[in-house]
Amino acid sequence: MNTIIDSCFDKINEQGTQVFRKKDNQFYLHPWEDLGSFGGNDRTVAVGGEGIYLFDSEGNKLIDGPGGMWCTQIGYGREEMADAIAGQVMRSPYYSPFNLTSDISVLLAEKLARLTPGDLNTVFFTTGGSTAVDSALRLVAFYNNCKGRPNKKRIISRKDAYHGSTYLSASASGKTRDKNYQDFATDIISFIDSPNPFRKPRAMSVEEFRDLKVKELEDKILELGPDNVAAFIAEPVMASGGVVVPPVGYHRMCLDVCRKYDVLYISDEVVTGFGRLGHWFASEEVFDIIPDIITCAKGLTSGYLPLGACIVSDKLMAEMGGEQAKGVIFSNGYTYSGHPVACAAALKNIEIMERENILEHVREIEPYFLSKVKELEDIPIVGNVRGQGLMACVECLLNPEEESPLELDYEMGSRIDSQCQAMGLIVRPVINMNVMSPPLIITREQIDEMFKILRRGIEKAMDELI
Ligand code: PLP
Repeated sequence: MNTIIDSCFDKINEQGTQVFRKKDNQFYLHPWEDLGSFGGNDRTVAVGGEGIYLFDSEGNKLIDGPGGMWCTQIGYGREEMADAIAGQVMRSPYYSPFNLTSDISVLLAEKLARLTPGDLNTVFFTTGGSTAVDSALRLVAFYNNCKGRPNKKRIISRKDAYHGSTYLSASASGKTRDKNYQDFATDIISFIDSPNPFRKPRAMSVEEFRDLKVKELEDKILELGPDNVAAFIAEPVMASGGVVVPPVGYHRMCLDVCRKYDVLYISDEVVTGFGRLGHWFASEEVFDIIPDIITCAKGLTSGYLPLGACIVSDKLMAEMGGEQAKGVIFSNGYTYSGHPVACAAALKNIEIMERENILEHVREIEPYFLSKVKELEDIPIVGNVRGQGLMACVECLLNPEEESPLELDYEMGSRIDSQCQAMGLIVRPVINMNVMSPPLIITREQIDEMFKILRRGIEKAMDELI
């Protein structure tokens, strides 16, 4: 008998959803809450899940189009996950990573070292994606201090990137709308443009556009001075920025520029890792790069528990270590670094993905998924569709035919999401876009179901405009 869960169900059954909505409005400040509507929201109350579906408190079954937040790779309701988690809780629910180690965390570190490309073999565990990126950025500064280069500290990131919500990772994020009322480390982070081919001038070829964006990186390094630039950070496919798939060769060319000026390359695979693009990591297999640091989280545990990792190359570790490093402490870490229960969840999640050939499934079903995204192009307000692996974005515009199609309806994404939710599908709104990253176990039939609803949802939202 699980008294907490039972009493939660009892309350919902006795008092109904409205009571929970009221308490949600009264007590719960959500991530990215619009304070103008705080206290007056009408959120769906999630109470259960099975496979790719979520169940809400009113008995509706919803396809989880965004896969939680790009993370529910193996889907909901896996008893094996519950058993692994419960087993580790009873065995050893906590150890201090500062002065002890744990068998299960060691096994996961070894497994991750084997799954990452090249010589990325040292794993620093964190509590999620933001802390993985934060740790990577702190490590890069620490590395240059160790090497006697105290000025080599600037980080180059990209407009529209999202890297997290700690002070540093938020500073490296490039979405202008999120920047209005927060403070940031503007003295450390500089931005170049996003390589979004949809934003290129129509007369320019994709290759010319790519070369221009790579040149912007080189120009920025030269402007700041190579002796001052520590690292470039990039998501292989920009996720929250609207699933921006860069032109072919972009990352490889950026890495070459970084190597030319002794600038480290941080690949933020918080979304693209763990099968989202059909591989454990996209850096090498999809984009032909072996970065210096990879950050990951989300799909690492399929969202069953919070965990992240910052995985560092042998080369970097060797350059920071050795005799001369005696007494030099990498003073960065968390009470819950390498939490044993989260590590048990990650190991079980990886085991399930291997046993069920989930990476192969993603590679096999990707063309079908992307073809269904492409079919949406004929809806008049759809300006652009794009995607890779099992991530996709539909961007709606008021005037899709304009040369500069930037006249946006900021509520369009939310309106489409509301229409879709009423028909059984969640599609995460990002301003005028809706992004999708369903659980990786999704079948062809479920993809059909998803896109049938999405088409109707976009059409209904379009009718509201007229
Ligand atoms: N990096 C990327 C690419 C992300 O998309 C996110 C979250 O969406 C983060 C980092 C931050 O991860 P978390 O929310 O687990 O802290």
